[in-house]
Amino acid sequence: MTLAVTILGSSGIYGTPTRAASGYLVEVDGSRLCLDAGAGTWRNLLTLADYPSIAGIVLTHRHPDHTTDVFQALHARHYGQTEPLSPIPLWAPEETIEVLQGYAPEISKSFDLRAITEGESIEFNGASLSFVRMAHPPVTLGVRIEHLGKVFAYSADSGLDADFETLARDADLFVCEATFQDADDPWPGHLSASQAGGLAAKADVARLVITHLPPGRDHERTLAEAQEAAGSIAVELAEDLRRFEL
Ligand SMILES: [Zn+2]
Ligand SMILES: [Zn+2]
Repeated sequence: MTLAVTILGSSGIYGTPTRAASGYLVEVDGSRLCLDAGAGTWRNLLTLADYPSIAGIVLTHRHPDHTTDVFQALHARHYGQTEPLSPIPLWAPEETIEVLQGYAPEISKSFDLRAITEGESIEFNGASLSFVRMAHPPVTLGVRIEHLGKVFAYSADSGLDADFETLARDADLFVCEATFQDADDPWPGHLSASQAGGLAAKADVARLVITHLPPGRDHERTLAEAQEAAGSIAVELAEDLRRFEL
């Protein structure tokens, strides 16, 4: 009876040789769900699991650094077998679904496209997934997953002006974006590492993992800034293929 999260991609903006763009593998009692599908996450996923075992996909928003590898899944599911695999649920904001269909209308043959909105909850293999609107220009939903008293929260992309209390309160694991450092010019659609650390402390999470780490930055500095703001909460950098069992 477990809730586990494996990082499939931890890079912000675009993928690099060592970090894919954003994506996570969530396992609920062995049932697999992909949460975001940025470039490079598909290759990381295949090192861990056979793709037909994926039972669902959640996309938080339409930005390419969170979605483009869903088309790898589409091709594999549709053309990679003798017969196309039957559709699995793909939950995403309406706007995201429209963008996916605009690029590849055949996506509805491989996925049962289900629009989700803020405040909504869905069920996945006995776990509850609820969605919080984040502060990011396209419609973006943060995800809170609860299973047998364990809580995993994921910020997706967001600035400060969102309900992090509802998203992350008392989470066992909070994976939060930390795109900027203190010396950067602030932009309201992303967080700095200090802000991520402060939010984790306020929500009293057990563990903070900072992610969406832009290429070419000093990530140790990002970690130090997050840790300082998070106080006694354990903070670490997201690393591709790192697995957390809650
Ligand atoms: Zn984004
Ligand atoms: Zn992003």
